[in-house]
Amino acid sequence: MKPPEQDSGSLLKLLTYERTLEHPQLASALQQALALPEEDFVPFYDRAKELCLREKGRYVQLRAIIEFSNCCRRQCRYCGIRADNTIISRFRMRNAEILETAAAAAEAGYRTVILQSAEDPWFTADRLAEIIEGVAALGVDVTLSVGERTAEEYRVWKEAGAKRYLLKYETSDSALYRSLHACGTLEQRIDCLRELGKLGYEVGGGFMIGLPGQTLATLADDILLLGRIGCSMAGIGPFVPSPYTPLKDAATGSPQLTRRVLSLARILYPRLALPATTALSVIAPEVRNAAFEAGADVVMKTVTPNRYRQYYAIYPAPGVGTAEIAADRKNLEEIIRSLDRIPV
Ligand code: SAH
Repeated sequence: MKPPEQDSGSLLKLLTYERTLEHPQLASALQQALALPEEDFVPFYDRAKELCLREKGRYVQLRAIIEFSNCCRRQCRYCGIRADNTIISRFRMRNAEILETAAAAAEAGYRTVILQSAEDPWFTADRLAEIIEGVAALGVDVTLSVGERTAEEYRVWKEAGAKRYLLKYETSDSALYRSLHACGTLEQRIDCLRELGKLGYEVGGGFMIGLPGQTLATLADDILLLGRIGCSMAGIGPFVPSPYTPLKDAATGSPQLTRRVLSLARILYPRLALPATTALSVIAPEVRNAAFEAGADVVMKTVTPNRYRQYYAIYPAPGVGTAEIAADRKNLEEIIRSLDRIPV
């Protein structure tokens, strides 16, 4: 039975005060909220900001991301560095280079370094553990984002000092997931996330907005899955079509819809670490900034050496910084301050 249509005020009330994940109307309330006319959604942005300020204060966490390899074994249909792309050059940073970059990021003031890569088995458990130890010794938090690996590998890296792990589930719809990934199933992805949680990582899930075939009902379930997995972070960004991929001609995800989903995630999970994603800043820098007015409290900045950046082309990102690490961070700090927030 389809629940009755509700107005903006009662939807907001339901999402704010009755937000147990078991609530039978939660998915439908999220879906209805996403479909509201923009003026009716404004109270949701406001509530998200209020909750963000209540839980996090005015602080915005700046995090450095080092993209250290684009050699990938997977075939994700949306991704510019998928294994089948024979056009791009492949690179792997050396240990010393990764450590130098991490040291420069720490020097510039970053307190977290995210080590991200394609799914590259060349980095065995021991090779990556050595890098993690080196980065952790700089006194920064280490976040990993290197894809699906075994429980044993995850355990070794946790022992080496990694604190958080980002692994987006991309969509909560298993049929849609299957259509995008010849290389794995949603179930395997979620198993990895649960394993990471058991090992004591702070776990980051997340998904893309605007994948071809996705509906508002999918997005409602995507938001609910964050809670079901117990994510403490969520990467939620628009899909950006990438050349040399099977989805190169698909439409770009909507930045406005992305901002709405961020707000709803903040309302449902007030303590969540919620980045205003790089993909959002690439397609709509002004909406990326508006995301901080709508519940976001984290921003990631690439510190990957310039000579590699163009090859870590998950999606086209024109002008992702050619300045140096400290200057880039200063610029970002200025933006955050201009939004009346405090960069940390
Ligand atoms: N290989 C690792 C991390 C790198 S990919 C992993 O799989 O987790 C990081 C994220 O980039 C992916 O989770 C996906 O959500 C995002 N991404 C990839 N291609 C994209 C595209 N075309 N548009 C927007 N985001 C994309």
